[in-house]
Amino acid sequence: MHVGVFADLEGSFGIWRMRQCKMGTAEWQYGRECLTADVNHVIQGAFDGGADKVTVKDTHEVGFNCLIRKLDSRAGYVGGHFIQPSFFGNIRDYDLVLYVAIHAASGTPDAFFPHTHYGIFSEVKINGKNVCEMEVYGGYLGDFGIPVGFVSGEEIAVEQAKTALPWIKTVVVDKNKETYTSGEKSRQYLIQGREKLRQAAAQSVQKASAMKPFILKKPLLFEAKFRTSELADRFNTWDFQQSGNAVQWSADSMIDGFDKLNKLTFFPKKIYPFRRPMLLFLRNYFRIKNTYFTPTPDSEGVLLVS
Ligand SMILES: [Zn+2]
Repeated sequence: MHVGVFADLEGSFGIWRMRQCKMGTAEWQYGRECLTADVNHVIQGAFDGGADKVTVKDTHEVGFNCLIRKLDSRAGYVGGHFIQPSFFGNIRDYDLVLYVAIHAASGTPDAFFPHTHYGIFSEVKINGKNVCEMEVYGGYLGDFGIPVGFVSGEEIAVEQAKTALPWIKTVVVDKNKETYTSGEKSRQYLIQGREKLRQAAAQSVQKASAMKPFILKKPLLFEAKFRTSELADRFNTWDFQQSGNAVQWSADSMIDGFDKLNKLTFFPKKIYPFRRPMLLFLRNYFRIKNTYFTPTPDSEGVLLVS
């Protein structure tokens, strides 16, 4: 069984503030240590549960957050974004995806850094329902026949994912600063929390046959609300139907619908013909930059527990 371990960042153990998710900062360099430790426990769990191949897909921002040299070397690693065969690269032979360190949907009150796909959107709807990323990415993976079987993240994010994908195994991660700045108590919390990651990942892989691809009802109507109508004007170079800050498009599959969402998010019409060389360049650029040109980590006094 080939298991994909997808990594976001916000929902990682050890992370309590936005700056730890902002690429290039010393606090983010600490956040990467946290994420890498979480991901390693999920890799271990996947192997414990019976996976014979594990590939980590790094997804936050430009997609190079895990510390590659500290990752469990049994797992493959894919950073950055792609066009073909999918946004996540070559996922065709994945049997199951475990999604580490997720966050809540755009507009979720009191949530940690809530957004759906990208911070420019205040809401993303599919067929009239406000969706979280596990519905967008889960629906996209679902159209490739791949189930999501595990998520970790703050409680509300896990609840949102579970409402859409009731079969998933979950681990709740606290986002309060005090949880991570209380010395020995914090160290125990991290050790126990990551042990839960390992166990839940193993259970998900053991029960892989009960994990279902998430299939949204077709045809699909997408609506992305930008935070302002100026943003909508700037990003909608595609003449998608627009009224004020809301942009709409229809799609006959999630693959088609998600491609259109990515056109709107990442590729102005003029740039679109150059998207392949552009992404190739960006992947190489950030692989080198985030591996060799990084700040010294600032954990703000927190003990690192791997
Ligand atoms: Zn993220």
